Amino acid sequence: MERRISFDVCPRCGEYGFEHLKMHSHCVNCLHIIDRWPREFPIPAWACFAYRQVSKQFDSQITPIL
Ligand SMILES: [Zn+2]
Repeated sequence: MERRISFDVCPRCGEYGFEHLKMHSHCVNCLHIIDRWPREFPIPAWACFAYRQVSKQFDSQITPIL
């Protein structure tokens, strides 16, 4: 499988060394990076809610040691 390297003009330094990769782009000249990782949190909202509910119950059963 042939892989073509795609360079573009860097938005920070203006040099022609801004490489576009699958998950990020970076400049070989000034090391400027723009990532494209998914912003969405990988744990579903319902799981976070359930965890918080159980966590609250667990915290209410703990007696602090003074
Ligand atoms: Zn640059």
